[in-house]
Amino acid sequence: MIETFTYEALPSRVRFGRGTISDVAAEVERLGRRALVLTTPQQVGAGQRLGALLGPALAGYFTEATMHTPVEVTERALVTLRETGADCVVALGGGSTTGLGKALALRTGVAQVVIPTTYAGSEMTPILGQTEAGRKTTIRSLDVLPETVIYDVDLTVSLPPLLSATSGINAMAHAVEALYARDRNPIISLMAEDGIRALSSALPILVHEPGNLEARTNALYGAWLCGCCLGAVGMALHHKLCHTLGGSFDLPHAETHTVILPHAVAYNAAAAPEAMAAICRALGAPDAAQGLFDLVRALGVPLSLAELGMPESGIETAADIAVENPYWNPRPITRDGIRDLLANAYAGERPRAAIVEDEAA
Ligand code: NAD
Repeated sequence: MIETFTYEALPSRVRFGRGTISDVAAEVERLGRRALVLTTPQQVGAGQRLGALLGPALAGYFTEATMHTPVEVTERALVTLRETGADCVVALGGGSTTGLGKALALRTGVAQVVIPTTYAGSEMTPILGQTEAGRKTTIRSLDVLPETVIYDVDLTVSLPPLLSATSGINAMAHAVEALYARDRNPIISLMAEDGIRALSSALPILVHEPGNLEARTNALYGAWLCGCCLGAVGMALHHKLCHTLGGSFDLPHAETHTVILPHAVAYNAAAAPEAMAAICRALGAPDAAQGLFDLVRALGVPLSLAELGMPESGIETAADIAVENPYWNPRPITRDGIRDLLANAYAGERPRAAIVEDEAA
């Protein structure tokens, strides 16, 4: 049954397809005159090919984008932005490069074109995480939402198979939590279910055939839908837990999401039956948490927090942190429940169905 809901559309222009990067000069022209190209040091070559397509609209390059958007990197990029006189940025890369573009937009109002090359989904969200002196803070503001996103399937072919798998599961996690979000709505739930369906069908193909264009197209389309979910509704246990684990033990972002997702879904299953039914339909599996675990296992990526380098003592530490600042979740957050979840994820064991009767009070 459709419940009372609020739906707020986020303004953004999307070009999707193969070879769409060739439209970049025209897309920049809609927003400004000259663009600063942003990349990581690993994607300098792709940035230069993009610069050639921009022609006279190219103002310069900044190639030091870094994971978790350190403020000192943003300050160096600000100097380059001012020196080149750019009134637009084109961020080509994953969530790290998109984050830098957003950080510049927040400080200067510069217009953004984003060309995503991973499945992280940051390009569809008004959210920016930044780190300063080792502390990560997150803000939500329409000022950081990119104006234009160019999805070019061809640029994702070079994403290594295992990174494709973990980045894809990271994206699916946005959709999974959107399905049981407190502020969920039927439009975003449609996107979430189709995003899970598209990614879960594509990822097992991509780990063996990274050049399969049909699977690449499905994965990028799914990542777009999942990014929309992250931008539109609030996240819960899974995202909070991954944030805690990443921050406390310096664990890699997408891999942590990949390990935790089946366990977070098992924890919430009994409290979110409609969401579980949608996940099952999307995966073609009889049980949501088990289906996600089987998918992750089939991808050949790490299944345990131990493999990611978390110390065993982290189980107790993270369980303590998880109950420190209460937040909304379909099933109440209890220390024992989170401890069990983490112990299971630490060992990489199959998620256990949660026992919820004792929590009715
Ligand atoms: P990333 O951007 O750090 O990229 C990982 C590495 O892969 C980089 O070296 C990058 O240059 C390289 N790479 C990217 N695409 C490639 C391609 N097609 N071919 C070859 N190499 C490629 O990783 P990510 O997972 O996309 O982003 C993670 C960051 O994004 C984290 O800081 C996370 O917090 C942030 N994030 C933010 C949001 C948001 O809404 N604000 C959403 C999701 C993620």
